[in-house]
Amino acid sequence: MKIIMLGAPGAGKGTQAKQIAGKYSIPHISTGDIFRANIKNGTELGKKAKEYMDQGLLVPDELTCDLVVDRIGQDDCKNGFVLDGFPRTIPQAEALTNALNELGQKMDYAIDVDVPDENIVKRMSGRRACLECGATYHVVSIPPKKEGICDACGSELVLRDDDKPETVQKRLDVYHEQTQPLIDYYKKAGILKSVDGTQPMEDVFAEIVKILG
Ligand code: ADP
Ligand code: AMP
Repeated sequence: MKIIMLGAPGAGKGTQAKQIAGKYSIPHISTGDIFRANIKNGTELGKKAKEYMDQGLLVPDELTCDLVVDRIGQDDCKNGFVLDGFPRTIPQAEALTNALNELGQKMDYAIDVDVPDENIVKRMSGRRACLECGATYHVVSIPPKKEGICDACGSELVLRDDDKPETVQKRLDVYHEQTQPLIDYYKKAGILKSVDGTQPMEDVFAEIVKILG
């Protein structure tokens, strides 16, 4: 099963993608997590990506597409994968479609997690992330068992630099301009499904499971 998660930043793509990956035993591939790991490890890619991420801008397609195409070619992706945060532009979607075409494959579902902008700003300011293992929490709706500490690995939780309110608005503008057109792209491809992302996390997941079967 090959799945794309669509939706604004903070809509809950990562939260749902992790659960999908667990239930269907497929890898969760988050380009945001890959860039953050590179930043943490001080790689050249990380240094370049950080310049864009800190401003709420997208990392250029030429730094992003090859990375994902290589990743989905790995052995653990044979039975499918869930993409979270990719594609984010029409050229990225086309690169993905072409790469899969060459292998005689195609995506099965593009799931749009729909949340209005008003809710997004609240979600982002409350998001707390673990930069060690990629787990995500929310101070009100999905708190960790112990404040400020990751349930999964015990590391300290942080407010991501790009979740500060001044950057969130920029990321939303970028989403509407560059990423939202993908909804139409995947509608035309006949694989778009929408879920109401304002519901509690478990209800959103139940809706997704109904779609995936
Ligand atoms: P995305 O990957 O789309 O950027 P996340 O999955 O990281 O978004 O979710 C953004 C924030 O909202 C996180 O703090 C997360 O814990 C919280 N969250 C996710 N899903 C829900 C939900 N259904 N209801 C309330 N808060 C949620
Ligand atoms: P995310 O963790 O998905 O919210 O991504 C955090 C940031 O990483 C984004 O705001 C972008 O700057 C960058 N990023 C992640 N995925 C992509 C992508 N597919 N294309 C371009 N930039 C990306």
